[in-house]
Amino acid sequence: VRMIKFDSVTKRYPDGTVAVNDLSLTAPSGQITVFVGPSGCGKTTSLRMINRMIEPSGGTIWLDDQDTGKVPPATLRRGIGYVIQHAGLFPHRTILDNIITVPSLLGHNKKQARAKAMELMERVGLEARFAERYPAQLSGGQQQRVGVARALVADPPVMLMDEPFSAVDPVVREQLQQEFLRLQSELGKTIVFVTHDIDEAIKLGDQVAVLNVGGVLAQLASPAELLSH
Ligand code: ADP
Ligand code: ADP
Repeated sequence: VRMIKFDSVTKRYPDGTVAVNDLSLTAPSGQITVFVGPSGCGKTTSLRMINRMIEPSGGTIWLDDQDTGKVPPATLRRGIGYVIQHAGLFPHRTILDNIITVPSLLGHNKKQARAKAMELMERVGLEARFAERYPAQLSGGQQQRVGVARALVADPPVMLMDEPFSAVDPVVREQLQQEFLRLQSELGKTIVFVTHDIDEAIKLGDQVAVLNVGGVLAQLASPAELLSH
């Protein structure tokens, strides 16, 4: 398990937009840190700098004692799962093949990868019979479960989640949130979770980073502290 530390991190895009402004905070090992705030406040940019999909313009992001800017990105990403809003599944591959793409790329043998995928499907609440279906044959909530299973398959200590439950209806969202908390209580990953929904932030976060437009950290608080204001 890993701790993530932002040290005076700034992102200025080539057009001059400052998306993240001097951000310093720690996402503790084994906990859920939520980035919350209005659209455009720099949540996604902050998240994608952790796995270097986006390069910071200034400052340092540490994974324990490793400067993430000095690790080859492919090596870095091996230890970091990534889940996005619309699961981003390959439409012409079965659910099973979508999940085992990653371990196959990492050179795991097919049989082990398959067994791991089936185990993860069960963990995220997907029946085994879905394995041979295609993404379009699953509901939005089921596709998100596949996205979570795929991110977990290489057993990364860190998970980045960008609005993973925002595109489904409220009933399914509630269900996915509860399942996610149960899963995390078993797995204890270091999670950074992005949402624009303060209720979701309070429900899921061990710690909540409230960002303001301009990429400024307004507050770093526990859910209890946020509720008392
Ligand atoms: P959020 O995830 O909170 O909605 P983003 O991190 O996506 O915010 O964006 C933060 C700010 O940076 C916004 O003003 C957005 O328009 C801008 N931005 C995002 N990506 C780019 C880019 N590639 N080039 C220029 N500006 C960008
Ligand atoms: P999402 O919320 O799924 O990231 P967005 O519409 O915010 O979708 O962004 C889609 C893509 O466009 C992202 O790669 C983002 O970095 C980029 N982007 C967002 N805002 C801007 C911007 N103002 N200028 C250039 N690119 C942007």
